[in-house]
Amino acid sequence: QQPPHCVPPAIRVLPLTCTDTRRGVRPVVHSLGDGTVHVSAARHDATFGFSAVFDAGSSQEAVFEGSGMRQLVELAIEGFSCTVFAFGQTGSGKTYTLMGPLAQSEKQPAAPGLLGLMQRSFSCLLEQSRSRGSDLALSASYLEIYNEQVRDLLSPGPPYALPLRWSKTRGFYVENQLNVDFESLETITELLLQGAEPRRRRTSAHALNRHSSRSHALLTIHVRSRAVSTPGSLIITPRCGFPQAGARPGKQGSLCFVDLAGSERVKETGSSGELSVEANNINRSLLALGHCISLLAKPRGKRTHIPYRDSKLTRLLARSLGGSGITLMVRGEDGWEGGDGGVTGSSPVALPQVACVSPSSRCLSETLSTLHYASRARRVTTKP
Ligand code: ADP
Ligand code: MG
Repeated sequence: QQPPHCVPPAIRVLPLTCTDTRRGVRPVVHSLGDGTVHVSAARHDATFGFSAVFDAGSSQEAVFEGSGMRQLVELAIEGFSCTVFAFGQTGSGKTYTLMGPLAQSEKQPAAPGLLGLMQRSFSCLLEQSRSRGSDLALSASYLEIYNEQVRDLLSPGPPYALPLRWSKTRGFYVENQLNVDFESLETITELLLQGAEPRRRRTSAHALNRHSSRSHALLTIHVRSRAVSTPGSLIITPRCGFPQAGARPGKQGSLCFVDLAGSERVKETGSSGELSVEANNINRSLLALGHCISLLAKPRGKRTHIPYRDSKLTRLLARSLGGSGITLMVRGEDGWEGGDGGVTGSSPVALPQVACVSPSSRCLSETLSTLHYASRARRVTTKP
């Protein structure tokens, strides 16, 4: 039996905004430099430990190299389902961490140094593909969950809801979702921009963020490696009927980036009307996700039914979280315990997260809840 594979969350602390600096707001979150963050404010004094802490001065590259993303790309090539979550309060830098700043215009793309985890992972994946003689077939799908509706961000025309179904062999899946093949960085970058805010994905302006994402977005890269031969044997081509001596069967992995809509307190963001309906849907699905994660973090004996069906988000993430057909490892107080899902034969999962927090005292309560949430998620680990 292999040792469990565990990728604990990383924390990224956003720089103070100009408005906060102007108002003389003091940062209340400090990186202590050894993987811990310290929160100190009037009635709070707490230290949290994580796999990595990126402070306000950290570059996008440092986050990519330090968060284990490169290893995750390799795991996806090896046939694992890998998921990257970005979570945290609205305006805390989730979209920035995943995609970099929004391009000012098509003619003025973001500077290469500012590209996010997604673009860096695509480059890494395509490099690997080339170095392996292009034996990887890559494709992408891009969905958003807006007001509890699943929509395809790659389909042309106005967005419409797609049905989310369940089958014994596939688990939860979205019917008629587009899956687009790509072979170059230009194509996948264009697909990303096509679906991303503010072109398609729902955003609204409110008090904490001018482009606040009002939906959860899931970009999935499917990685199929064609059957290959081991050194010293004949090369097997994809059309070659059945495996020959020395051949390894093809593998099918995936890399999913989840940009969660930020939790928010309606009072602070000044949301009303449609915005507050959106906020309630966002908060409700994040609550369902938090609930599933806290149940999954319990030792197996104490674990009850995991309510994936409570929201579209948890249904779509069931596979990543440990639901249908993966072997899940949960770190209990006294070591590792295995758990299992219902369907057999699907690939295991790796699950790292990047939690984003604002250092501002104005966001203290949300920051504390993000850090608690991340510490809880830290105990949900999976086994390749
Ligand atoms: P979220 O997706 O969490 O709501 P965004 O990623 O949209 O937040 O970030 C809010 C604003 O802060 C954006 O204008 C973004 O460019 C800026 N920002 C976020 N993180 C950083 C960072 N690490 N360095 C500089 N600017 C950042
Ligand atoms: Mg966002």
